[in-house]
Amino acid sequence: MISLLAAFALIATGPAAAAAPAADSPPAIIGFTAAHAGDEHALEARFDAALKPGDLRAWMERLTRHPHHVGSPWDKANMDFILSLYKSWGYDAHEERFDVLFPTPKQRLLELTAPTTFKASLTEDPVAGDRSSQQQREYLPPFNAYSPDGDVRGSLVYVNYGLQADYDLLAQHGIDVRGKIVIARYGHAWRGIKPKVAAEHGAIGCIIYSDPANDGFGRGDTYPNGPWRAPSSVQRGAVTDDVYLGDPSMPGRASLPGSTGRLTYKQAQTIAAIPTMPISYRDAQPLLAALRGAAVPSAWHGGLALPYHFGGGAARVHMIVKSNWRITPIYDVIARMTGTVEPNVWTIRGNHQDAWVSGAADPISGQVAVLEEARAVSVLAKSGWRPKRTMIYCAWDAEEPGLLGSTAWTEAHHEELAKNAALYVNSDTNGRGFFFADGTHSVESMLNGIAKDVQDPERPASIYARTRASEIVGGDRTGENEDDDIHLGAPGSGSDYASFSDYYGIPVMDIGFAGENGDGGVYHSAYDSFAWYVKYGDPAFAYGVTLAKVGGRAMLRFANADVLPYRYTAFAKTLDRYRGEIVKLVDDTRALTATTNRHLAQHVGELAADPHEPYVAPQPLGDVPTFDFTTLTAATERLTAASAAYDMAADAALARGVIPPAADPALVAVERGELDNRGLPRRPLYKNQIYEPGYYTGYDAKTMPGIREALEARNWDEARSYIPTVTAVVSSLADRINAATATLK
Ligand SMILES: [Zn+2]
Repeated sequence: MISLLAAFALIATGPAAAAAPAADSPPAIIGFTAAHAGDEHALEARFDAALKPGDLRAWMERLTRHPHHVGSPWDKANMDFILSLYKSWGYDAHEERFDVLFPTPKQRLLELTAPTTFKASLTEDPVAGDRSSQQQREYLPPFNAYSPDGDVRGSLVYVNYGLQADYDLLAQHGIDVRGKIVIARYGHAWRGIKPKVAAEHGAIGCIIYSDPANDGFGRGDTYPNGPWRAPSSVQRGAVTDDVYLGDPSMPGRASLPGSTGRLTYKQAQTIAAIPTMPISYRDAQPLLAALRGAAVPSAWHGGLALPYHFGGGAARVHMIVKSNWRITPIYDVIARMTGTVEPNVWTIRGNHQDAWVSGAADPISGQVAVLEEARAVSVLAKSGWRPKRTMIYCAWDAEEPGLLGSTAWTEAHHEELAKNAALYVNSDTNGRGFFFADGTHSVESMLNGIAKDVQDPERPASIYARTRASEIVGGDRTGENEDDDIHLGAPGSGSDYASFSDYYGIPVMDIGFAGENGDGGVYHSAYDSFAWYVKYGDPAFAYGVTLAKVGGRAMLRFANADVLPYRYTAFAKTLDRYRGEIVKLVDDTRALTATTNRHLAQHVGELAADPHEPYVAPQPLGDVPTFDFTTLTAATERLTAASAAYDMAADAALARGVIPPAADPALVAVERGELDNRGLPRRPLYKNQIYEPGYYTGYDAKTMPGIREALEARNWDEARSYIPTVTAVVSSLADRINAATATLK
């Protein structure tokens, strides 16, 4: 590793120097006049010089010394330590306490009762030389948080990933899961979707296991010989049905100490519908081996050396899950550096601190990068620089059980946030590899500027160039798109940016590095440890420092810019793409409906099925009506025009060296236009009509979700009823951008 780095360092002066501009014309930075862009580049060079990888390593060693799950002594000790760091660097810092419903395991049992017997160990083996893996008496054993209590017995059925399409296939094979216990493998959706869909089909219990094909020996050597998942390793995690975010006992309200009107766990809508338990592939092997019935199709085969069957017959399991349902205090650290010119315009940076076990990768790898970023900002402040706008650094508690710490904080401060928050920058797990970013598309141009300015630590190229290259090799960039900006993924859920965007329409970005660290191989297990991280995650903390460079630039550019560095052309283009996808979805659904019904009439599925196996034909599909999207199309055209006009006006003003005095409040207000108080169907607290996590995906975003998800569910009236809502939102965004343009005149 070291010699490789040294070799690249020698040639790094080649292409990098050739791309550097002449000293008298510093490269432009979005939001800055030419003169101030030079100052900003000089400031960022000093910021970079202050970053020390040794800090990241030392803090990670400290923060992962004991398990630091919600409510544990080390969780609080870590928060106190982080608070003391921020105070020592001169931030105005404090802890904020919230009290949340957090279950911990009381009783766990899983046994095969027929045709043979086997009792699952439900434990992770200690590994020599890995302190975290040996702290079994301190850490929470494998469990799925927010499974309801239950003691269930039933026939066992393998349901692949446990999504709707899997149950459709089971139904065709004449297998239903009513009154049975399902075993699903992890992957392809938020884990909480698996018990949700299983319960919708009548199952009474849900086992989720890590198949070695997905993150074990099917991917590479397993821990401790490699980064991938070991046979006894279990992925913990919450299994809520996230119809709202945060504390299940306090929907839509901050869980302040002493709050009244809490829901009990039985009243809370987000608690999983059926008892759910995670297991290792070592424990899954005998269960899957006991299944009989038809062999599964090849796409359902995992990596275990056994014939995978659907089951649903004689193999029976007994499962007990019971938890201590306690109200538990959590502590967020909030550290502020107040802006000198516009103290009421806030840029917020955050990463969680709590983990399922020791969480070296998830979340401490990101947490230590944020701490080092904040320390380097304080070094600038000590040398006389001050931010024009306010910067706020946050360490979140209780992210793992369901974004409880960040959601409670945004709920407690939503009025100030609505007025003041310009951007929330999130990170979480970080490791070696390629830069990735999800986020609101109004910051896509700025973030690409940053990605072109920051060098990869292990190749003589920018992080933009490496991501671009990996996307070309992966087939995601072709032909005329090869030199496009990195396109931000739409923000869904799965980390602490969710409530900022989903509830309050605050622009967000979620950033990090991944892809070369066996990421996922120890996810939410006892092996996500310091020992694992310094061997496989990011041994030199080089990508941690690089994450600090990216996050720090986003913070500093928002804090220092002459005009807040939003650009709306990419935003409008992306929203128009979403509109086009929805129009196409109607046409595609109509065509698919016709084909499906024709094949049903011709008995195609039945004729292709093995006559010796059961076959149940699905019901014919109803017709797809027509939809009128002309108003939505007109609104997106208006948004496109407004966005182009703003971007031109902002660039022209900055090129003239004119600093518009009043643009910021109008700009901060733009993306609040994404909200509509109607919320989403069955999820009224999710008010963003552009970006939301999917009802059946959990993590992945659904864009223009009111229309899109209704179409996917063939709920035609609901889809039609959301067209005016989304149209009004897009129109409001155009009006708000026009109002911002007017302040530049
Ligand atoms: Zn995390």
